[in-house]
Amino acid sequence: MFDTKDCFDVAVIGAGMAGIVAARDLSAKGHTVVLLEARNRVGGRTYMKKAFDGKIDLEMGGTYVHWTQPHVWHELQRHNISVLPGLDGDKFHWLADDKVHSGTRSDYEKAVRPLLDRFFADARARFPLPFEASIVDNSDIEKQSLEDRLSSLNLSTYERDLLDGVFSGVVHSYKEQGLAQLLQSVAIYFGDYFAFLETAGFWHIQGGTKILIDAILAESTADLRLSTPVSSVSDNGSHVTVTTISEEKIHARSVIIALPLNTIGDLKITPDVAPPVRAMIEQKNPVMASKIWIRVKGEIEPFTFLAPIGKSPINAVKAESWYEGDTLLVAMCSEAAAIRIDDCDAMEAALRRVLPDIEVVSTAGHCWVTDEFSKGGWMMHRPGNLLGAAPQMRQPHGRILFAGGDIAAMDTGSIEGAMESGASAARDIARALASGKY
Ligand SMILES: Cc1cc2nc3c(=O)[nH]c(=O)nc-3n(C[C@H](O)[C@H](O)[C@H](O)COP(=O)(O)OP(=O)(O)OC[C@H]3O[C@@H](n4cnc5c(N)ncnc54)[C@H](O)[C@@H]3O)c2cc1C
Repeated sequence: MFDTKDCFDVAVIGAGMAGIVAARDLSAKGHTVVLLEARNRVGGRTYMKKAFDGKIDLEMGGTYVHWTQPHVWHELQRHNISVLPGLDGDKFHWLADDKVHSGTRSDYEKAVRPLLDRFFADARARFPLPFEASIVDNSDIEKQSLEDRLSSLNLSTYERDLLDGVFSGVVHSYKEQGLAQLLQSVAIYFGDYFAFLETAGFWHIQGGTKILIDAILAESTADLRLSTPVSSVSDNGSHVTVTTISEEKIHARSVIIALPLNTIGDLKITPDVAPPVRAMIEQKNPVMASKIWIRVKGEIEPFTFLAPIGKSPINAVKAESWYEGDTLLVAMCSEAAAIRIDDCDAMEAALRRVLPDIEVVSTAGHCWVTDEFSKGGWMMHRPGNLLGAAPQMRQPHGRILFAGGDIAAMDTGSIEGAMESGASAARDIARALASGKY
């Protein structure tokens, strides 16, 4: 038996954006909180790391945010942090029907917008209140994949490739990813895919995600324990025991599990979660993509290159900034396995399809797919999970609550979703602690 004075009010497992917000909010209310993080750093899938001879800090994971995202914007304002745009080039290249097409942004938008309008025609009707995703009966589209919607549009090869390319920055597999999440994400941003893309790919945090994470942690009195992977969580009805891989036992009145969906399966949870939730944990987040920084020689004219999945190893590439006389590109690679992060030759060959004289100087990135504490990229739900298992997972499971961008009710798979989910779990627990339920 343990001494009740050693029992925390809340144990938060995982110090990504969801976990640190939850730990900060609960400790600010006077609760005793322990924050357990497997890695030797906080931030999870947001990670600023030194690159290119250690001279520059680059975002390896989640980066782009927007003032239309309420939780993100609240945190940024609270800490007096601003956002900055990347390079805004007007030159677009798109691979479609085995040919590279080039033009201005307006040429590209003119070509792709009518197709996006057809793809997202029902987005707002399906999600009129995106924060209440089930207010309309969406059971039919919930079962469909992105591939189902693409096939239903009877597109020519050129049109299919155009849509495939414009989605490739967020998609890994059209067959494995559900339609509902993309429709909901676009419905949040007025049914306009380009508005959604602006939130997901243009404005970054001034000083980087690390600045924001440090500011949030500075407000927290939680007991942060790094390099502490958790192996099991057991709720006996009167308290919860969290066991670390080094067999240390930590006791708490309640727990928030704020882990990537793809690592929750490594945790033994007692009593087990409901069967649909267990099924979603086992099916996993399908996104096995990567983000690679490419330093190319000289200050080149900013450009964007979009290519369908499987037809190029780099799919959504754009010039992000100039650096020491060179240009830094960000490449989203839908299939991480298609190109190694350090393979400069392969990167150069892929880019030369568009810009024949381009020279790759070096590359940088982090492999989220092989990282044991993420095991995948950003969350895109499989068919059947956004409106089924995910809401179920957001309900309290005894004294255990789940949080994280992967199961967020809105802006799933983003920093905004992670923050909202962490704040929401913290509110639920604070209420339960105040009422004596926990
Ligand atoms: C390459 C990439 C690019 C992205 N780009 C964007 C973007 O531009 N904008 C955007 O909004 N979002 C983006 N995202 C998504 C965004 O980063 C995530 O949705 C968000 O960071 C998730 O936060 P989280 O706290 O839910 O999970 P995580 O950040 O994954 O945090 C979970 C934490 O749990 C820890 N952990 C795992 N297992 C254990 C264990 N057993 N015990 C203890 N701790 C454990 C992990 O180490 C991690 O710190 C991107 C993601 C990736 C991978």
